[in-house]
Amino acid sequence: MSDLTTQVPTHDTVILGSGCAGLTAAIYAARANLKPLVLEGHEPGGQLSITTLVENFPGWPEGIQGPELIENMKQQAVRFGAELKMAHLVSVDLSTHPYTLNLGPGKPPIHTRTLIIASGASARWLNLPSEQALIGHGVSSCATCDGFFASGKDIAVIGGGDSAMEEAIFLTRFATKVTLINRTDHFRASRIMLDRAMAHPNIEFLSSTVVEEVLGVEEKDVRGVVIRNVKSGERSELPVRFVFLGIGHSPNAKMFHGQIDLDPDGYVITRDNVFPTHHGKPVPGVFACGDIQDRRYRQAITAAGTGCMAALEVEKFLEEYGR
Ligand code: NAP
Repeated sequence: MSDLTTQVPTHDTVILGSGCAGLTAAIYAARANLKPLVLEGHEPGGQLSITTLVENFPGWPEGIQGPELIENMKQQAVRFGAELKMAHLVSVDLSTHPYTLNLGPGKPPIHTRTLIIASGASARWLNLPSEQALIGHGVSSCATCDGFFASGKDIAVIGGGDSAMEEAIFLTRFATKVTLINRTDHFRASRIMLDRAMAHPNIEFLSSTVVEEVLGVEEKDVRGVVIRNVKSGERSELPVRFVFLGIGHSPNAKMFHGQIDLDPDGYVITRDNVFPTHHGKPVPGVFACGDIQDRRYRQAITAAGTGCMAALEVEKFLEEYGR
């Protein structure tokens, strides 16, 4: 590790990502007078910014809209001196310290003594125009966040893995009927989850079926889906009032490939939640928080918790190295 004093303008800490984890880290780092630079990334505000009412974030007894919660966090971070920059990390060099972050052609690189990776995991979507138009209006990728809005409705869950089974089972608490739509007749879900979902009286399975369109764009309210049986080619309409995507998440960590350890699905492997490794050894001054390192809980509050932890570790690291 090189000395921390350098002639090149160097940040004490840069935070990648402006979701719940990154902004919580920014609030803590800013209050420690570290003037964090937050690179907002290609999905500013993260997954909360595409959610509607958040009812499980402590402190909001009536709930709060996801985008408003994120905006509040931004203002809180900025009030203490955080700088937010609309930028997207293209590549990073963790081989020499201070670390260098590249933002693409024609943009000056950024140097930093510490790095907080809070770039999150993006929900996978079908990428149908009608699906995209109805996100937040009856189309969701988060059953925990939006399940309540499915109360008393017939709904669809798309996917055949553990996430889809978990969502479908969870959503039976609210929905009158859940139709689980899987594109093949094979399921990636673990046997136990699949059996549990199949045994549930309120879950119906539609296998070898794809969703081609979500109906209700005009009304801004889901009224059904157009489905096609991939074996028979037959098309039909399924009248559902809410659609949940359970087709997995993609962690935004590709740029760290070969520089920190990622699991087979591309999530950052951490020790004690926030310490990434490279070949099993700690990477000095680099910390990870939120969904990029958490495939288990994926909640706003857990992301905020690890964001706080990462910022406290940054402070400790900089103190130990004489800042
Ligand atoms: P996954 O195992 O990768 O399953 C994704 C599912 O979505 C598959 O059925 C896949 O179909 C389908 N899919 C993907 N893209 C699609 C598309 N464009 N259109 C239609 N269907 C599509 O993802 P996951 O369920 O999120 O699970 C990820 C990991 O987390 C797994 O290791 C899982 O065990 C774990 N997990 C565990 C729990 C638990 O234990 N409670 C809960 C959730 C997740 P194909 O099979 O045809 O590709």
